[in-house]
Parts: sequence; C-alpha cells; structure tokens
Amino acid sequence: MKRRSRTRRVLKWVGLVGCVLIVVAWGVSTTRTLVFIAESRIVLFGAGCFFTTWSAEEVTEVIVARGHARKGWNYIVLPRETLSSGLGFCWPSLLGSNGRFGSSGYLEIPCWLMLLLTAIPTAIFWYRDRRPPRGHCQRCGYNLTGNISGVCPECGEVV
Ligand SMILES: [Zn+2]
Repeated sequence: MKRRSRTRRVLKWVGLVGCVLIVVAWGVSTTRTLVFIAESRIVLFGAGCFFTTWSAEEVTEVIVARGHARKGWNYIVLPRETLSSGLGFCWPSLLGSNGRFGSSGYLEIPCWLMLLLTAIPTAIFWYRDRRPPRGHCQRCGYNLTGNISGVCPECGEVV
C-alpha cells in the first residue's frame, strides 16, 4: 500500500520554494549582477547564469569588463545593451586551462538547468504525495470499495 511519507511532504514544499526562488533570482539577474571578487577567484550571478572562475586572466578580464567592480561583494546594474543577450539560455560549461580541469578554469551553470534539476524531483514528490482518490483510505490509500465496517482493514483508520 502507498504510504504518505513525511519526508516527501517536506521535500515537495522545499522543492517548490526552491523553484520559486530560482525563478525570482533568474528574473533579477537579467538586470542586475551580483559579483564576489577575491584574490584569484570570482563568483558571479547575473544574466541568468551562475559563473565562477579561478583563472587569473579571467578574473582580471571580468574586473576590467565590469568597470567599477572592487574586491569583495559587488551588486552591479548591467548596461542596457547586455539585457537582450543576458537571459541565461546558454549551455553549462566547465573548463580548465589547456582543456584540462586543473588549477585554473571556470564553471558556468545557467538558471534553466538549476530550475530543471529542482523542478523534476519536485514534480515527482508532488505526484507521489497526491491524496488517495475518493473511496480509498485517506491515511494509507487502501481501496475501501464495499467496506461497511467503517474501519480501514489495512491501517485501522476510522473512515
Ligand atoms: Zn488505511
């Protein structure tokens, strides 16, 4: 018999909240970019993508391209011309120097992929956690057709 698990009930809501947050962050990222600049690493969320690089040249390049970015947290409003191409419909990419994953490279994860990876398990949790149909025990899902005792023979729930 189908059991309604507590973990699944929690996860389906956590997943839904996660999906909503990703969509909101995605929307905000099309006009604003959050950048964290460290000595040899940049973490950037903007233009519908999460991007991080640990290559010295890339770090310099991003600092130069973003103009006013300083070390530490930066919250930047992107120039208008970047908006049309900055919706994040790109492929995820992971690259190391010389085509090898090593001491320098970058990682880019688009929002659509994060949303997909969150939405698929969430949809499964919602599907599997749906209420048993009418005529079935609401606690364990047992089919109560023809039951006249008023008690579920499977779990003992009064129906
Ligand atoms: Zn039952």
